[in-house]
Amino acid sequence: MIRSGGWIKIGGVLMALLGLFLIVVVGDLFQFSPGDDIGISLSEKGDEMAVNAGFGLFLIGIFALFLYSGSALPEEYTRAFLKTQGESVGRLVRSLNLEGNGIYLPPRGRLTSDRVFVPLDKRLMEVPDLSDDMVLHTGSMGPSLGVSLHPLGAGLVDEVENGCGTPFGSEPISGATEALERLSKGTGLFREITVRDRKDHLEVHIRHSVLGGVCEDIWKDHPDLHRKVGCPACSSVLCATTRIAKVPLRVMDVRREGGKVIYKMRKGG
Ligand SMILES: [Zn+2]
Repeated sequence: MIRSGGWIKIGGVLMALLGLFLIVVVGDLFQFSPGDDIGISLSEKGDEMAVNAGFGLFLIGIFALFLYSGSALPEEYTRAFLKTQGESVGRLVRSLNLEGNGIYLPPRGRLTSDRVFVPLDKRLMEVPDLSDDMVLHTGSMGPSLGVSLHPLGAGLVDEVENGCGTPFGSEPISGATEALERLSKGTGLFREITVRDRKDHLEVHIRHSVLGGVCEDIWKDHPDLHRKVGCPACSSVLCATTRIAKVPLRVMDVRREGGKVIYKMRKGG
């Protein structure tokens, strides 16, 4: 959105300037050019149209500028909001002593939207059959205890899907890297997202752009959070990847390497 916003602003300025040019230059000529004839000549009609078009362009340009300036959120505010989100989830997970690795679930079965399930226990467990309204999953067995959260990045993925009109769930896993360009190049929030299919698991490589600092800060303050839910930006990538995979994806491992965050996600949870 940051990139498209920039273009809207530039377009608005150009339109307003062109509008002003038409009003001032052509309008000036129009004012002094009419002769004594009662009828209006073709060139005068053209001048009048140019002035009207100038007004139109000027108003549209100004409107575009105001429209975008009103809705844009400066980057530093966006970062502050996202960092606070990450911090609060980090504290919640820590205070509940949730030790297991996160399992991302696509909107399937009883779930109409994505979830990330964080088990209480480190032991491997069956993926519980969750429904939308479940938050604390008590389960019948100890190991299936855990908390079901709405992934921090799900809203961004919804926004990208609405903008493109193509759901990630309609993409095959073989085309995941290409499909995820809608999230990386489409928003300008990631330099690169790559998904490698390794039979029983997926390897997801994330190279951040403007939100790299938020990811690093959350990694430092809450070292375990990335293997449980991820920062808001990493979470959006995992969320979109899970929609493409159409099966639960369990975090097996996450590391930072060469400026990238690399996730290993087991298929089927
Ligand atoms: Zn991150």
